[in-house]
Amino acid sequence: MPHVKCLQCRECKSEYPIEPLNACEFCFGPLEVSYDYDAVAKSVSRKSIESGPNTMWRYHDFLPVEKESAVDISTGFTPLIHAKNLGRQLGLDHLYIKNDSVNPTFSFKDRPVSVTTTKALEFEFEVLACVSTGNLMGSVAAHGAKAGMETMVFYPADLEQGKIQGAAVYGPTMVAVEGTYDQANRFCSELADAHSWAFVNINMRPYYAEGSKTLGYEVAEQLGWKAPDHCVVPGASGELHTKIWKGLEEFQGAGLIDKAKTKMHLAQAEGCAPIVEAFESGNTQVKPVRPRTIAKSLAIGNPAAGPYSLEVLRDTGGTGVFAYENSIIDGIRLLAETEGIFTETAGGVVISSLKRLVKQGKIKKDEVTVAFVTGNGLKTLEAMGDFVAPIETKPDLDTFQTKLSNRRD
Ligand SMILES: *Cc1c(COP(=O)(O)O)cnc(C)c1O
Ligand SMILES: [Zn+2]
Repeated sequence: MPHVKCLQCRECKSEYPIEPLNACEFCFGPLEVSYDYDAVAKSVSRKSIESGPNTMWRYHDFLPVEKESAVDISTGFTPLIHAKNLGRQLGLDHLYIKNDSVNPTFSFKDRPVSVTTTKALEFEFEVLACVSTGNLMGSVAAHGAKAGMETMVFYPADLEQGKIQGAAVYGPTMVAVEGTYDQANRFCSELADAHSWAFVNINMRPYYAEGSKTLGYEVAEQLGWKAPDHCVVPGASGELHTKIWKGLEEFQGAGLIDKAKTKMHLAQAEGCAPIVEAFESGNTQVKPVRPRTIAKSLAIGNPAAGPYSLEVLRDTGGTGVFAYENSIIDGIRLLAETEGIFTETAGGVVISSLKRLVKQGKIKKDEVTVAFVTGNGLKTLEAMGDFVAPIETKPDLDTFQTKLSNRRD
């Protein structure tokens, strides 16, 4: 653990040792990893990072684990693509897609989970567990398999088949919980007290959250050591949104980039937008909602990092924006048809929200904008509905030619 000092309460600043703890015993505030940033700044440079591996572990100086023991399935350093076609349609000259759907288990969750699994081994846990909106359980199951740990994943029973089978294949114990994610989450908090398991997003949450910072570092490095003008980030618990910003701030603190003036926008789905609703009504607390959205990976009605995500929106001049439910699939298809990238519903939410931000004049033509595509479309096929209308033909030239010219008319 190169430069870690302690865990610290985000509210009252009480300090705790590096242990599997997630809440302050005085004020119940969430705990966060705190670093000796002078030591970090002394040990990193652009050069040292550039000579590291082509994975998220090139940023190990900023992570709370020993890199030698990293449970590494080659996560991170995913492509940042200049999206010229989509940019032209939206009227943006410098639009980039951060395509994090090409991670080993096809979502950005591999970043927080690699850090947590590594930490769980350091703490000598035997069981790795999580409660998931879909992508997390695939990642936990894969990392548990790689680490040789017993693995238990809990999920709301109505998830997409691609997420369920895509986790089951790694051999974890699958637990389908009746009800919403928020109900499953409450149940798992009880379980975490009753069992000595490493619940990646409960008792291990401070370490889990750190992994997502690497998305911020990568984007800055890939833009030529510069922070973008805008980030458009999908939000469920709101953690990813806050951690991309933390990554940019840390890079600035370490002297790797100039002051980041990035506007950090948060995108949610109309049917589950508690953080966006709080933002729009000027509240500092989030009122829980009951999710009704096709974007199941974003269906958290009571978001743990909600207040901090609101803080990031306010501090950076970002906007909370939601995508209409009936525009999510359009967003998926627009990205696929312009850039050749097939994202899941969360990505549809991002693209549709990006469109709204441009229309509202929040993002200008010449500003550098990064849209975060965090999960892969093959996992949410059923959300697409029946949209395929092939030409049906006998293997015969005449039949085909006739049908083709009919189709083109
Ligand atoms: C989990 C998830 C998110 C949201 O992450 P939070 O940190 O909970 O806000 C976004 N996109 C995808 C694809 C996810 O699986
Ligand atoms: Zn506290």
